[in-house]
Amino acid sequence: MHSLWNDQEAEACAGDDLALRVYTSRLLGSDEYLVMHGGGNTSVKAVVRDFLGRDVEVLYVKGSGWDLETIEKPGFPALRLDETKRLADLKALSDEEMTRQLRSFMLDPSSPSPSVEAILHAIVPAKFVDHTHADAMVTLTNNPQGEAIMQEICSDCLILPYVMPGFILSKQVHEAIRDIDLDRYKGIILMHHGIFTWSDDARVAYENMIELVSRAEAYIAEHGQTNHPEAQHDVNLPDLARIRRAVSEARGSAQLAMLDRSASAQGYASRKDVAAIATRGPITPEHVIRAKRIPAIVARQPAGDVPEVAGFSRAYATYYEAHKTEGLQMLDPAPRMAVWKENGCIAFGSSVKECGIVTDITRHTRQAIQTGESLGGWQALSEQEIFDLEYWSLEQAKLGKRGAAKEHQGKIAVVTGACSGIGKAACEALARDGATVAGIDIDPGVVDALEGMTGIVCDVTDDNAVQAAVDQVVAAFGGLDIIVCNAGIFRSGERIEEQDDEAWNRMLTVNLTATQRFMKIAIPYLKLGVRPSIIVVGSRNYAAPGPGAAAYSVSKAGITQLARVAALELAPDGVRVNVVHPDAVFDTELWTDEALERSAKRYGMTVEEYKTKNLLKTEIRSADVGRLISVMAGDVFRATTGAQVPIDGGVDRVI
Ligand code: ZN
Repeated sequence: MHSLWNDQEAEACAGDDLALRVYTSRLLGSDEYLVMHGGGNTSVKAVVRDFLGRDVEVLYVKGSGWDLETIEKPGFPALRLDETKRLADLKALSDEEMTRQLRSFMLDPSSPSPSVEAILHAIVPAKFVDHTHADAMVTLTNNPQGEAIMQEICSDCLILPYVMPGFILSKQVHEAIRDIDLDRYKGIILMHHGIFTWSDDARVAYENMIELVSRAEAYIAEHGQTNHPEAQHDVNLPDLARIRRAVSEARGSAQLAMLDRSASAQGYASRKDVAAIATRGPITPEHVIRAKRIPAIVARQPAGDVPEVAGFSRAYATYYEAHKTEGLQMLDPAPRMAVWKENGCIAFGSSVKECGIVTDITRHTRQAIQTGESLGGWQALSEQEIFDLEYWSLEQAKLGKRGAAKEHQGKIAVVTGACSGIGKAACEALARDGATVAGIDIDPGVVDALEGMTGIVCDVTDDNAVQAAVDQVVAAFGGLDIIVCNAGIFRSGERIEEQDDEAWNRMLTVNLTATQRFMKIAIPYLKLGVRPSIIVVGSRNYAAPGPGAAAYSVSKAGITQLARVAALELAPDGVRVNVVHPDAVFDTELWTDEALERSAKRYGMTVEEYKTKNLLKTEIRSADVGRLISVMAGDVFRATTGAQVPIDGGVDRVI
């Protein structure tokens, strides 16, 4: 670990305490071995002029919802320092009251809520205070000999036993530093938790942190083992999908299951002692909020409904019963992470972001645990202490603020023909409703066309390529719940007797056969999905064909019939299959301005009249079809299968 302090960058903050605070907070945040995902907090004390023109001493402390890596000035609410300090003199203070009082001390009530460690930051008599849960520190403080090791390498620090964060920790530190000369100390080590450093000089506070963590790293390098087993195993994707479904059932909502199959994850999952060492507890207690206390341990080849997940849930309920107190509500009993023997580590969550955080926590945890084992053992906090944090009212309050889940949150969808038109609109609607979406298209533009989604270049008539694309999605997100069969081509103006044979074959291959192949490849995964659904994009042409488009009409009639048979075949597995029949969707690539004008002229209409030549006299946009597809894939249609829904403004020949 090295100091990243840069004189020039620091110079740019000269004279601006808060700017300097932002600068060194970001230095801390940029190293994942110091700070991860909202972990750690920093502060600076300064004098500011309040609204009435009076000078007030304030504590700028990290606000909730901000990460040190990307924090900016608004991420530091300003609290009246004197009032904040005085809270530490109280004998007791409930979490709710602490939160309320801290908020009442804020100069700007619209600022984010201050860190739960605000009081601690206030009572340390130095301008800059830095706090992290550095990996090396928690690796050593979770050692059975942790305290002795700390006394050896950090004899110039105050070493305190673990207590709950928040007021209790502030009180502990308040009493510990009241009668001592803090200048004699370089930092405070909190066993099983982390480290504090401070100084009136931003650089010194930061570099003391680097120095103390470096000492821990040096101790580990000298006495322990930091290179851990690696392995390489093939993964059975349907097994992954079954694990995901079991966890989704336990959670009560669809979950992504993101498998880390890196050499280090598979090496860890291949250790003979993994079940024993992985289930002792987290490296720092706050990880329990995101990742729960321990992972589920799943066999290499899990049986049918993955009994390990049900076992985890039962054990969680027992843990809750053993430690609950009056007024608590049990959280869902589903695991947030699993060690899947030989295959790697799985993170579960409702979004890619949530899973990414769990994946990072899991990666750091397995490194710390294995290193800890080589240093004489891994001894995390007791169940009771972890439980107290997991059910801490302040943490429960944060979870409550998440808001209602979206319709497709945690679900995984694949859409073909996704680069433009109806396919792109379907992707956007599904993603807006919470799904994790991958779009397939032969057009390389698909990679950039889908913002925040996965674009895969793939020719739908190449079975191997489609299989690879679907496998890629399952490997990345853990399963498949929704497919939209949309890819298709259109050509008209050819009567049957003059039909070009090549064009006929091509139309049937792309529109009909490729749809059947896509279904064939996706169905085994859909059967393992969460409330799975297939949407087939048909056409008004099926019910109301026109002359000169035999190949197109036949192909759309074919996939409609295919969908009806699929509905019959897949109902026992709970997979719904429905067809949407759009017509006159003119904002697609098929319709250029010239083509529109030509067609309008043929009917003796203006373009506007032509676009709305339906019973409702309304224009149908791709986005309308996309929204309908998303609704049909969702709960409104949960009892509907084998249905055909037109979206055409009303066509008398169909009605
Ligand atoms: Zn902390």
